[in-house]
Amino acid sequence: MNGELPKLPEIGQWGSVEELYRLQDARLPDALALAHRSPFHRRRLGPGELPGTVEQLAGIALSTKEDLRESHPWGMLAVPKEELATYHESSGTSGEPTPSYFTEADWYDVIDRFSRNAIGLLPADTVLVRTPYSMLTTAHQAHQAARLRGATVVPADNRSLVMPYARVIKVLRDLEVTVAWCLPTECLLWVAAARAAGLRPERDFPALRGFLLAGEPLTEARRTRIGQLWGGSPVRQDYGSTETGSLAGECPAGRMHLWADRFLAEVYDPATGRSSREGTGQLVITTLYRAAMPLLRYNLEDTVRVSSADCECGWHLPSIEVLGRSAGGYPVGGVRVAQHEIEQLVFGLPEQRGVLFWRARARPAMLEVEIEVPDDQRAAACAELTSRVRESLGVDCAVRGVPTGTLVSPEVLTKQHEFVKPKTLFADDEDWSRSVIYY
Ligand SMILES: [Zn+2]
Repeated sequence: MNGELPKLPEIGQWGSVEELYRLQDARLPDALALAHRSPFHRRRLGPGELPGTVEQLAGIALSTKEDLRESHPWGMLAVPKEELATYHESSGTSGEPTPSYFTEADWYDVIDRFSRNAIGLLPADTVLVRTPYSMLTTAHQAHQAARLRGATVVPADNRSLVMPYARVIKVLRDLEVTVAWCLPTECLLWVAAARAAGLRPERDFPALRGFLLAGEPLTEARRTRIGQLWGGSPVRQDYGSTETGSLAGECPAGRMHLWADRFLAEVYDPATGRSSREGTGQLVITTLYRAAMPLLRYNLEDTVRVSSADCECGWHLPSIEVLGRSAGGYPVGGVRVAQHEIEQLVFGLPEQRGVLFWRARARPAMLEVEIEVPDDQRAAACAELTSRVRESLGVDCAVRGVPTGTLVSPEVLTKQHEFVKPKTLFADDEDWSRSVIYY
């Protein structure tokens, strides 16, 4: 890292949320000057004076993922290209990818805030990085943060052919992994994969001291269940995106806080077009320090709940609950039903029911739910979930229990991929149909 790191605020330098807001106000002119160096923002801001206060900022149009895509690849660039450290992108369902880039100093900011997480990475830790490395920022962020803290990184990826679930389980055990960075769903898949390998997750991974999870909304019930299944391992969360890096992380008191000393956050109500500091709505952020790709009023389109109520951690950062993109849900018999509501009910079933995987479909008149459940628990699990859905969500529902292995096939949990390097000369007794296979 070069010597030009910006002086970043640190937790403890403000004593209340109001003081934090004053820090943001004081930083805003510099942040806008950084943004003004990018062609996109220069065009958006137009001629004349830059906004100087948070109130004036509200006059700037929101920017969206679509704006980033249209600016692909370098329309958002605010520094000379030689100052860039990395380029990333996330791809949507169609069209151009969404670019994201960072200078070394930007990276320092990202890994510094990621490292605040209460999981507290240490030199003695062995950290399994199980999020994608290819093009996204997620794995690189955890990888660098763990390195910065002196931990040992195991770069496992999660879209790599060489790391099927069976190998993840082997790595977790053989290397005595202490912390795993992954999607919440991975933790459940590993339970199934460990069991398929004849292991008991709650007993056979004694080195594992915690999970650091991101990438999907996680209800309290699912988080609790993951901890129970892994023998009481703490489950901590981070929230971020490839466009921004870590935006929030968990405090020692178990709440997720926005890193609001490093960016401004607004909660935007698409129905009224108004935004505020707290409440429920879409998260909109303005970066305060990012140099390579500053973001002004960037709408992440994730539905969140933000509160500035005090937390016992004393960080004086607003707390955030992430409800996700599908937070609005789908209509079922005149009621809107959201994924997080069903997840809360599914993982609220007693642990002994053994439900790890489920799916649901919003039918016009009823909710259709499938749960993977062992034979001896099927009748009880289906009856309980049916009544919980009816009581809590007020919709009619049909719950079908399917045998274990129906939603997640045993093959996925046990298969061993064989990856061969290109080879062109074979011995007489070798199978030369294996020449130059890329798969
Ligand atoms: Zn807290």
